[in-house]
Amino acid sequence: MKKIQMVDLGGQYEGIKEQVNSAIATIMETSAFINGPEVKSFQTELEAYLGVKHVIPCANGTDALQIAMMGLGLQPGDEVITADFTFAATVEVIALLQLTPVLVDVEPDSFNIDIEAVEKAITPKTKAIVPVHLFGQCANMDAIMQLAEQHNLYVIEDNAQAIGADYVFDDGSKQKAGTIGHVGATSFFPSKNLGAYGDGGAIFTNDDELAHTLRGVVNHGMYERYHHDVVGVNSRLDSIQAAVLRAKLPKLDEYCNRRRQAAKSYTNALKGQPNIITPKTVKCEKEVCDTCSCHVFHQYTLRITNGKRDALVKHLSENDIPCGVYYPIPLHKQKAYVDDRYNEADFPVTNQLVKEVISLPMHTELDDEQIEFITKTVLAFVNG
Ligand SMILES: *Cc1c(COP(=O)(O)O)cnc(C)c1O
Repeated sequence: MKKIQMVDLGGQYEGIKEQVNSAIATIMETSAFINGPEVKSFQTELEAYLGVKHVIPCANGTDALQIAMMGLGLQPGDEVITADFTFAATVEVIALLQLTPVLVDVEPDSFNIDIEAVEKAITPKTKAIVPVHLFGQCANMDAIMQLAEQHNLYVIEDNAQAIGADYVFDDGSKQKAGTIGHVGATSFFPSKNLGAYGDGGAIFTNDDELAHTLRGVVNHGMYERYHHDVVGVNSRLDSIQAAVLRAKLPKLDEYCNRRRQAAKSYTNALKGQPNIITPKTVKCEKEVCDTCSCHVFHQYTLRITNGKRDALVKHLSENDIPCGVYYPIPLHKQKAYVDDRYNEADFPVTNQLVKEVISLPMHTELDDEQIEFITKTVLAFVNG
């Protein structure tokens, strides 16, 4: 059996080696390292793939979130509602811009932001909601867009983990994750579903005026050379990363399919067990969606409900099976973000999930033999 890895970027590279190497060689020869033609082409190709009017490439996913908030003109003291159960980048940029983060609980089945909790958290100071499409599946965007409209709020989608996923609206229509809110942000960190060979990110919007603003914000607030109209940042996708992403983008759907196939094999082996809750695709009533691509399984995350999660992590590592705990601490309990405003009784789900979640190896190169070894090891331990 091949050595099991949490993410196998080397194996994936084998399939795109020639394109990647020749594109990088061309960049070396032309020295177009910054804002070269590769960046522009990638931007156009990603716009077409996502069906969105504007893609603004930038340096990483954290910047993408920050730039989105700057472009919307959010002001210090404005409240921004986001999920308590996510990677810290989301709340970090809210705090950095001196906005007020308002963390709310998530749903136990999708792990995504809880709509009732969002509604309860809205005050006259609320200016935006940041749903995080956690682990590759969209938050309930029907309800979020409706709440946003009722209360005149911006919606900034944190799409770092769900690029390529479809959101299925209540009426059955579909749209790509990240293109539904006023603005979307994504990351091309190497281990993300569309990963570069270094850092990268992008912002999406269908709003022409906002796109214009964002293009200035990423470039020192410049709309005309050496005229700085707003305070901006320096955040660029470099040409080498754009070339890598151009080689991978045509394969993104195939990559997502392979992840879904792995997820399906995991679920078939692990479902119906008393101490394990397998992940759900909430919109299509199947355990693992294989028809509408509403989940792209950035992570395959189980809940271990008999208190053996930490012991399982140790047991898997002793058997050379890597795994991850995303995330072990709710954001409202992180030292940087603790606040008297929060009440433990408002976070029952996140407080439970952090004790139960475990993410198994998930990437495009997993094979049946590896999945069988992993699931057998998990089952023998959890039920043993
Ligand atoms: C990865 C990630 C980010 C940040 O992306 P970087 O490119 O690492 O800055 C933001 N939000 C979520 C949910 C992420 O998973």
